[in-house]
Amino acid sequence: LAKAQGPASLQLFTKEISARAAKTLSLQTRLRRAIEHGELTAHYQPQVDLLGGDIVGMEALVRWNSPDLGMVSPADFIPVAEESGLIDGICEFMLWECTRQNKQWQDEGLPAIPVAVNVSGRQFQYARRLLSACERALVDNRLDSRWLEVELTESSAMRDADNAIAVVNQLKDMGIACSIDDFGTGYSSLSVLKRFPISKLKIDRSFVLDVTTDPNDAAIVDAIIAMAKALRLKVVAEGVEHQEHLDFLRNLGCDQMQGYFFSRPLPADGLRALLAEGRRLNLGPPPRQ
Ligand code: C2E
Ligand code: MG
Ligand code: MG
Ligand code: MG
Repeated sequence: LAKAQGPASLQLFTKEISARAAKTLSLQTRLRRAIEHGELTAHYQPQVDLLGGDIVGMEALVRWNSPDLGMVSPADFIPVAEESGLIDGICEFMLWECTRQNKQWQDEGLPAIPVAVNVSGRQFQYARRLLSACERALVDNRLDSRWLEVELTESSAMRDADNAIAVVNQLKDMGIACSIDDFGTGYSSLSVLKRFPISKLKIDRSFVLDVTTDPNDAAIVDAIIAMAKALRLKVVAEGVEHQEHLDFLRNLGCDQMQGYFFSRPLPADGLRALLAEGRRLNLGPPPRQ
């Protein structure tokens, strides 16, 4: 029976694999074309200070509006881009475009805030290319480097920590601050973390989601905030969707938040409007001590 089944199931298996490979390939081909044809845009999500309620930063998130696939989520195409090397082009596009946009807003007289661009582990591996892309974006657009930041995920940072620390130092020398993104999902050694010359930790939204109902998540978030304070890092909570999240995080002394509760990621026009009207988060009474 096994003999009879073997070839058939193998055939099915091979068919499945090649279907998957073909799908990946077509996504790859389409993505390459998308980069060349300008189908990528940057959206921006504000980051809000939890003491005063002001917008103090923004994260740039790539968006792909494909003529034949519609809106493709970065969760679907970033992994393909990383495997194929197309991520380099995406990263360079984002660095340049966000720098250009931020400078334009400053020239229009809007309040100056930094823009944070997500960078993949691969960019840190081939750091010379990343550093020159940052340099070119800042010089071409005449933006001061204090208004550009970089986010690196905890897992990428820890994969080759010595190298990542060296790159963060080089960025810092250029005046570009780094944050560790998705914190709590990787495996940081605290002794390694303290060697990173970063300015911010971003608590992954998976912990924020149930922070008010799951005591384990609450304990993790509490511990991350306490650790960040001990290391004199700012701490940003991602994925804040409800008033209860906000109140809880403020009571723990979290510095900043980013999430749908204040604003979803917006196209450039939308973020511009928030800055122009001086939109703030209504914080209500101060947190209890
Ligand atoms: P990330 O860097 O952790 O970005 C935050 C993600 O959480 C974004 O998803 C954002 O839309 C989403 N988010 C923000 N607030 C909330 C909330 O309150 N609730 C929920 N449910 N989600 C919220 P997005 O834009 O789909 O991006 C997903 C991931 O793709 C990013 O996670 C980042 O890892 C990656 N990514 C996005 N843009 C870029 C890019 O330009 N370069 C690289 N290398 N990666 C990128
Ligand atoms: Mg990020
Ligand atoms: Mg994140
Ligand atoms: Mg994430």
